[in-house]
Amino acid sequence: MKIITSPKEMKDFAHSAKAEGRKIALVPTMGALHEGHFSLIDRAKELADIVVVSIFVNPTQFGPNEDFDKYPRQLEEDLKGCADHGADAVFTPSTSDIYLPDASTFVVEEEISQHLCGKSRPKHFRGVTTVVSILFNIVQPDVAVFGDKDAQQVAIIKRMVRDLFMDVEIVSAPIVRDENGLAISSRNKYLDKLERIGAARIHEALLAGKKLVDGGSLNIDRVKALVINSVTNAKTRVIYVEVVDRETSLPVNEIVPGKSRISVAVWFGQTRLIDNIEI
Ligand code: AMP
Repeated sequence: MKIITSPKEMKDFAHSAKAEGRKIALVPTMGALHEGHFSLIDRAKELADIVVVSIFVNPTQFGPNEDFDKYPRQLEEDLKGCADHGADAVFTPSTSDIYLPDASTFVVEEEISQHLCGKSRPKHFRGVTTVVSILFNIVQPDVAVFGDKDAQQVAIIKRMVRDLFMDVEIVSAPIVRDENGLAISSRNKYLDKLERIGAARIHEALLAGKKLVDGGSLNIDRVKALVINSVTNAKTRVIYVEVVDRETSLPVNEIVPGKSRISVAVWFGQTRLIDNIEI
């Protein structure tokens, strides 16, 4: 497995692979890799000849009071995980490799990113679309794999790729959960053992919402109220619960079974967690 830090070397690697007619898949990550990330690498291996995993904690997607500094970093362990899952290359640039000191160009999606996480994290998606564009330009993937855990992010990237005629296919992979149902996340490291078990309540709340819809209730307010009530306890503070279109992640006025999703974000103690379920 090749470990590449410089954008120039990454571009050269991609050019050679393409010149040999090989298809490249990119799995963009911020590291602290876990089973959710590994499932994306496994999926990428099915889709392309060469799998590149990027590990880059992207400063532009963190707000001023967010956890950029304390975000978990464990490169050695991550490299081992990537090798174990058969990645061909890991691209792990430094911040100054990606953003020149006077960088002044951003990529902004202006509709989907106004909603859900975009409301409480105003510049978050601007940072995501910008860094993903930069990574696409450097790695030149034919396909890129993202997780449904960040369903709004997937919708925004798909919209960006469509709107900007980018030559890359976006594939999303299912949410990987721990044994209690909690969606695995690098931020779960902030939770202690008991909190981890408690946070499984988020998935239980989503399942309760789904059950209500499966039982025939298409009343959005009822579904949202049930999810909010089920998720709320002394430890949680709900940031949003929304019923959205499954493809675009835009909020909807009516539930269409098979085409909708319930998306939630909650503060669990000091930790911001997101999750969703298709309904
Ligand atoms: P991150 O490192 O948190 O930026 O995530 C990198 C990629 O892994 C994103 O596409 C996430 O949606 C995906 N991902 C994170 N957690 C999970 C999970 N539990 N299941 C599936 N994909 C995930």
